[in-house]
Amino acid sequence: MAREAHLLPESCDVAVVGGGPAGLAAATCLKLAGVESVVVLEREPNAGGIPRHCGHPPFGMREFNRCLTGQTYARALVERAEKVDVRIHVNTSVVSLEVGGGITVSSTQGDASITAGRVILCTGVRETPRSTRMVSGCRPLGIFTTGSLQSMVYLKNSIPFRRPVIIGTELVSFSALLTARHAGIKPVAMIEENACMTARAYCRPLPMILGVPLYRSTHVLEIMGKERVTGVRIMDNAGTERTIDCDGVLFTGQFTPESSLLRMAHLEVDPASGGPVVDQYGRCSDPSFFATGNLLRPVETAGWCWREGVRTAAVVVRSLDGQLPLSERTFEITSRSSLIKYIVPQIISLPHNGDGAGHLQLRFQESAKGSLCVQQNGETTWRKTMHAKPERRVLVPTPRFTGDVVDHAIEISFSATS
Ligand SMILES: Cc1cc2nc3c(=O)[nH]c(=O)nc-3n(C[C@H](O)[C@H](O)[C@H](O)COP(=O)(O)OP(=O)(O)OC[C@H]3O[C@@H](n4cnc5c(N)ncnc54)[C@H](O)[C@@H]3O)c2cc1C
Repeated sequence: MAREAHLLPESCDVAVVGGGPAGLAAATCLKLAGVESVVVLEREPNAGGIPRHCGHPPFGMREFNRCLTGQTYARALVERAEKVDVRIHVNTSVVSLEVGGGITVSSTQGDASITAGRVILCTGVRETPRSTRMVSGCRPLGIFTTGSLQSMVYLKNSIPFRRPVIIGTELVSFSALLTARHAGIKPVAMIEENACMTARAYCRPLPMILGVPLYRSTHVLEIMGKERVTGVRIMDNAGTERTIDCDGVLFTGQFTPESSLLRMAHLEVDPASGGPVVDQYGRCSDPSFFATGNLLRPVETAGWCWREGVRTAAVVVRSLDGQLPLSERTFEITSRSSLIKYIVPQIISLPHNGDGAGHLQLRFQESAKGSLCVQQNGETTWRKTMHAKPERRVLVPTPRFTGDVVDHAIEISFSATS
């Protein structure tokens, strides 16, 4: 039976933009904490976010103490939210954000404006498509990202190719391998520019188990074919070229936050993470807006984003109750190493008594061994020797401010050892 569509409200206590794991977790927890009107605005026909088209496990260990497929997990999150009367508006795209919590939506009910006490932005990430990867060749049919492949296979029951080449070895590239296996697609190669695979060691045997040759230290020179993909020309770091016959190319990973709404609005965007500039509470440069989940930075797992959504809900409840201090002063966190790709949050609001995000999240550009060091007011307050790897989470305890605070930014540096 078709579910009755809720009418869009003119105002609400909290509007959640994006109904993925982070948004649904935040909305559910807000209702459980007694916030009266909470709406989720989701542009797709169903809420659940990326997991809706991940037909494979493992999802849900933190949230449901069970190992679920992405699709079952997405449905369970939606059910949990609806049970506590979260209003989920699907087919509803947020098209603009206004100062102080205003949003404009475009939906099947027409265009509308909503005034929200607080807005939580959770629009997630997307993969970098071929158009921005500067790979030469014509534009034949058969070029996809993992997300588009998964939505074809799991949501539209359609198979776009039979023998693709997979570009990349991030965690999501293995998600692509599993999707291919499910659909009877037999990838003919996996290509990695670096000498090592990006994903963790436990993923590494999968290409071999599935009989997919892996080419490391190799990049794509050209996609061949005019109407349809017929092959790719690749070259390794020694300069050896070869051609692989295939009928498709799958670009995986190289995630970027879905921050187009922020870029068109008044909110500050961090060029390093690609997401909004936030303080330790996930509060944006306009304090009526908060951000959570993968929009903050590329890229984390569903369970991690769900937990961030839970934490953000607690902070937003305090903000609605007037218990979250408006920042008297903010301290920037500055990177002093080109090896550090980004740091989130980017600022600390004072007064800061240790609540909010317990950790700063960092990512490295490339594999590096050395010592990561935090300095406050010129003094080293934290140091750790590590072997950092690209696309791996690095956590640094959020600096505390004790005694007299002097006007010095917090600096994070990395001294590489050979
Ligand atoms: C292709 C792909 C495969 C992945 N595979 C895995 C995996 O196997 N396991 C894993 O743990 N993680 C995986 N991830 C990471 C994934 O991002 C997280 O699992 C999780 O979905 C992040 O949750 P989120 O709520 O932050 O964002 P998302 O799940 O991305 O949800 C964001 C939601 O916001 C909506 N939205 C965006 N813009 C608007 C707008 N303007 N108006 C209204 N709605 C909007 C989107 O439609 C979407 O539903 C994958 C990511 C991608 C891109």
